[in-house]
Amino acid sequence: MRALITGGAGFVGSHLAERLLEFGHEVLVLDNLSTGSIDNIAHLKGDRRFSYVIDSVTNEPLLAEMIDRGDVVFHLAAAVGVKLIVEQPVHTIETNVHGTEVVLKHANKKKKLVVIASTSEVYGKSADVPFREAADVVLGPSVKHRWAYACSKLIDEFLALAYWKEKKLPIVIARLFNTVGPRQTGQYGMVLPTFVRQALAGHPLTVFGDGTQSRSFTYVSDVVDALIALAQEPRAVGHVFNIGNVGEISIRDLAGRVVALARSASPIHFIPYDEAYEAGFEDMPRRVPDLSKLKALIGYEPKVGLDEIICRVIEYFRNS
Ligand code: UDP
Repeated sequence: MRALITGGAGFVGSHLAERLLEFGHEVLVLDNLSTGSIDNIAHLKGDRRFSYVIDSVTNEPLLAEMIDRGDVVFHLAAAVGVKLIVEQPVHTIETNVHGTEVVLKHANKKKKLVVIASTSEVYGKSADVPFREAADVVLGPSVKHRWAYACSKLIDEFLALAYWKEKKLPIVIARLFNTVGPRQTGQYGMVLPTFVRQALAGHPLTVFGDGTQSRSFTYVSDVVDALIALAQEPRAVGHVFNIGNVGEISIRDLAGRVVALARSASPIHFIPYDEAYEAGFEDMPRRVPDLSKLKALIGYEPKVGLDEIICRVIEYFRNS
């Protein structure tokens, strides 16, 4: 296939580009480098099946032309990272809602398949763990900026499903759970690269809140393999899928594991949420995916476990 990846110079997008090329596909990348980096795709430039344009998805004539050139669109361009979302709420909402709106509008003209990267953040504060795709979402009030991210991605999901229902545009929605691996910078608040950098520098690890909140981490190669399999599975069209890993860990324990595996002497510091983000910040207490829908359709089985994930991220930061 010839795949257009919006956000293809980002962390997940660049791994997706690499994997598609490995499988023999052609890749076009559209990225405005807002959070992505040209370094992420520098090693792909020599491949004649790879091309890229540095511009925004909001450049509609360009977007329309790039969609025409591809068979499938992986729409990954978005504002991500809780820190970014809290600090730049206008940018987050506008980028996420408008970007998806124009991608769907132009894909619809030629009925090109669109795989949309959504997020586990949409489940919000729900206590109904593990999260099933059809479960209710539980979000906080609009005065708490964090929930703007979940809402913006939910609007993307609603719009994509509406295009499928009303106009028969083929779409697939993938809710990514905490995805980690090389090239994720931690600049926008992601916990694992932040902890690893702190541990390697001998600085204190900053655990927000009391650290009892939990997450389940997925290695980026497992995520991109699932995205590719979904794009190639006609029965996925019109559906929402979780992509993640079931190994749940508290953030406090994660800090301990990072310190141990990095053989670091760093202490662990607990920082109140109000200080880490903003007054009244609400976190998600737990976040674990139910993967049965994805397993049943594409035989998904994540291959990289947590200790291996942490070791690979340590290795990445040691070498960069
Ligand atoms: N977190 C932390 N220290 C950090 C960054 C994040 O304790 O330096 C916590 C954060 O409060 C959350 C979890 O780690 O409970 C995961 O945060 P991240 O921003 O990676 O992703 P989220 O799951 O919140 O989208």
